[in-house]
Amino acid sequence: MRRRLRLLGAGLAVLVGLVGGLVAAAEETPEWKVGLARVKITPEGPIWMAGYSARNKPSEGVLLDLWAKAMLLEDKAGQQGLVLSADVIGFNKQVWDAVVERVGQKTGLKREQILLAPSHTHTGPVISLGGESGYNMPEDQQKVVHQYTEKLVGQLAEAAAAALADRKPARLSWGWGVAHFPMNRREFTSRGVILGVNPSGYADRRVPVLRVDDAEGKLRAVLFGCACHCTTLTGQHYVISGDYAGFAQEHIEKQFPGVQAMFIAGCGGDANPYPRGEIEHVRKHGPDLGAEVCRVLQGKLQPVRGPLRTLQESAEAPLQPVPPKEELEKLAKGPFHVAYNAKRMLAALEAGKQMPPSFPVPIALWQFGEDLTLVGISGEVLGGYVLRVEKAIGPLNLWVAGYTNQVFGYLPTATAIAEGGYETRGLYGQVVGFFAPEAEEAVAAKIRQLAEKAGRKMPSP
Ligand SMILES: [Zn+2]
Repeated sequence: MRRRLRLLGAGLAVLVGLVGGLVAAAEETPEWKVGLARVKITPEGPIWMAGYSARNKPSEGVLLDLWAKAMLLEDKAGQQGLVLSADVIGFNKQVWDAVVERVGQKTGLKREQILLAPSHTHTGPVISLGGESGYNMPEDQQKVVHQYTEKLVGQLAEAAAAALADRKPARLSWGWGVAHFPMNRREFTSRGVILGVNPSGYADRRVPVLRVDDAEGKLRAVLFGCACHCTTLTGQHYVISGDYAGFAQEHIEKQFPGVQAMFIAGCGGDANPYPRGEIEHVRKHGPDLGAEVCRVLQGKLQPVRGPLRTLQESAEAPLQPVPPKEELEKLAKGPFHVAYNAKRMLAALEAGKQMPPSFPVPIALWQFGEDLTLVGISGEVLGGYVLRVEKAIGPLNLWVAGYTNQVFGYLPTATAIAEGGYETRGLYGQVVGFFAPEAEEAVAAKIRQLAEKAGRKMPSP
């Protein structure tokens, strides 16, 4: 009996979701066209895994398949934007450029029309097209990683082309829910800020949800976010998975068969799931987040209308003067990317190389009419940036994402830089250096400039 009641409840929930869409459908003809596609990107064999330097062997088996998914949006004037989500750690500049080029060849889309959304899973493969990766991989594994990444670039381009070909009339709406497991991880101790648990620190717990309905008001796809590292599983785990983001997508797609669920990370550079470390934790956080997205989908959502404007520029974020050699030598004995970065800086110093005074932080800004602004900041963006962006361009109709397009290292706030800790000690890709406190203002100013250009209604500065 209880089971029958549960089934009835689930049936009613689906019905409510459908009817909600149907009511909207009767109002007007849809102004959007949306195309969808997906491709499985689970590595075919053992591969070196990303996110933890301590791993000493390639992956062993698969806990959950990895996916890349494409969503092509087209407004009624024909303006297009493509979201490409993938259950991988992130894309460096070289891989981002390669994806832009290949997707461009297949679809004609330009860089500013493409938004890469890696989940930052720490149980996925290393993504690299060669060059330094920061991992102690044996040579044969470097080849495996390179081949996997080459193939992935092609798969993303194929998915983009398939989504373009799949365009159908659609209606967009959005809303948000709340996640309870993201935890600020900058723990203050007598030894300084460590990677730990800080319940009184800030974490953005908002779960933004973009709903895509077909012309009949039937749910077709959902794009949702969460601002938290995909680090429920740790360096002790050697199974491939999309961490909580992968399990959340799976949960939603089970609730709504045929619907494509896509994840876009938020500014979770300084947030870890809590608790973490066990497979049972990922099996809880993922479905918990998925269930929240399903709840939001069945509630009242705000319409998202066009026109669509997609912008992509970079903020020149100042770097600190190069620290003295002695300090770098100390940092070179520190954890993972801190040591990696310090060693690269020492090598550059020894080679007599000039250090750059700033680093271009890519910023994407998608404006949906007057209804929604999606800001995609590149890098491992700290949660404090959400508050900074809200201050810069107003908190309403705003979705702030991180890790989009290029991941170059952490993007710390001025406050975090003053406090110190893991997230403040440098870039690990492309160039070497440490962000200066002024980087935050440079990023905020660029976002405001882009928002003005895109026609977002904003409070006066
Ligand atoms: Zn990270």
